[in-house]
Amino acid sequence: MRRAKKYLRPVKPLDSYRLMGCTRYETGSDGLRYKVHHIRAAAKEYRCPGCNGIIAVGTAHEVAWTEEGWFGAAAGRDERRHWHTGCWRARGHRR
Ligand SMILES: [Zn+2]
Repeated sequence: MRRAKKYLRPVKPLDSYRLMGCTRYETGSDGLRYKVHHIRAAAKEYRCPGCNGIIAVGTAHEVAWTEEGWFGAAAGRDERRHWHTGCWRARGHRR
């Protein structure tokens, strides 16, 4: 099933991935540009790479990946990580 991402609209609040209304770019401390999506509610549990803790179902959080990594855009998307919002924000300040 293919959909043009540009026309993605949060019409059906059932699938959390459809709710990713705001995508933004952030430059990480590694100099790579990351795409960051704000997720309003986790559809399942994820492990946050920032604190190694669990992001519980239903928790608002961030998913981030880079398309500028060593292995290219597709690999970057496969490597996307779910972060607690606070952990993601703190990440850039920690060196
Ligand atoms: Zn965390």
